[in-house]
Amino acid sequence: MKILLGAHTSISGGVASSVDRAVKIGCKTMQIFTKNNNQWKAFPLTEEAVRNYKIKLRLSKINPVIAHDSYLINLCAKEKAILSRSREAFLDELKRCELLGIPYLNFHPGAHRGQGEKDGIKIVAESLNFIHEKTPNFKVKSMIETTAGQGTNIGYRFEQIREIIDLVEDKKRLTVCIDTCHIFAAGYDLRTEKMYNKTLDEFNKIVGFKFLKAFHLNDSKKELGSRVDRHEHIGKGFIGKRGFKFLMNDKRFEDIPKILETPKGPDMLEDIMNMRVLGRLVKT
Ligand SMILES: [Zn+2]
Ligand SMILES: [Zn+2]
Repeated sequence: MKILLGAHTSISGGVASSVDRAVKIGCKTMQIFTKNNNQWKAFPLTEEAVRNYKIKLRLSKINPVIAHDSYLINLCAKEKAILSRSREAFLDELKRCELLGIPYLNFHPGAHRGQGEKDGIKIVAESLNFIHEKTPNFKVKSMIETTAGQGTNIGYRFEQIREIIDLVEDKKRLTVCIDTCHIFAAGYDLRTEKMYNKTLDEFNKIVGFKFLKAFHLNDSKKELGSRVDRHEHIGKGFIGKRGFKFLMNDKRFEDIPKILETPKGPDMLEDIMNMRVLGRLVKT
């Protein structure tokens, strides 16, 4: 079985350097931030930086690349100023992805901060409609990530992801990413074959596999249903190796990128370790 496995990779030193890092540790796919994820401001992407990145990527076997948006962006922010800033920042990130030829921009739906989940969902969809209308010919898809439901974050029930999709005009612009840590913390079990199948069947029934274009593979430091988002190394958390075994051997998801977002140092040794653990779970 083919494994499309990779890790979130730093762009420190320039976007192109992320490809070097990912290649060095044997990634077949990767995720990057296209800018500093803790700042609103984005450094400009020069023609040279884009060219270098594209050449390196073409020479590598990494495909696809996924971008993760800035943690500051909240597409259902309560304060009007933050909402419009978030929309502008997301637009800018979509433009960066388009320049770099990145097919997916992954994002968390957002935190409603007391507006209520229903209104939060409506505002996220309005934000996406606004953003998609401004970028009519873009190839990059917006990728909704399932969340742990920490605080007032929405997107922790498959039904909420479905509601967002239903309210977005241009559904061809949408894809979905399942984060194993997040759904587990949100209460979706993966630890037995029966529970794994139940969770994935539910996702398919409510959201649909046709939207599913990525997995984030993270074990969870917190228990099932805790609604606390803390990533752990594969096999060291509450999901455990068994939960990942079902996913790693599921033929339906063979072609879907699986990205690690577990804690790591600059040399990414932890990613090598986690990829090895996952690789060993694959039945040959
Ligand atoms: Zn995320
Ligand atoms: Zn994630």
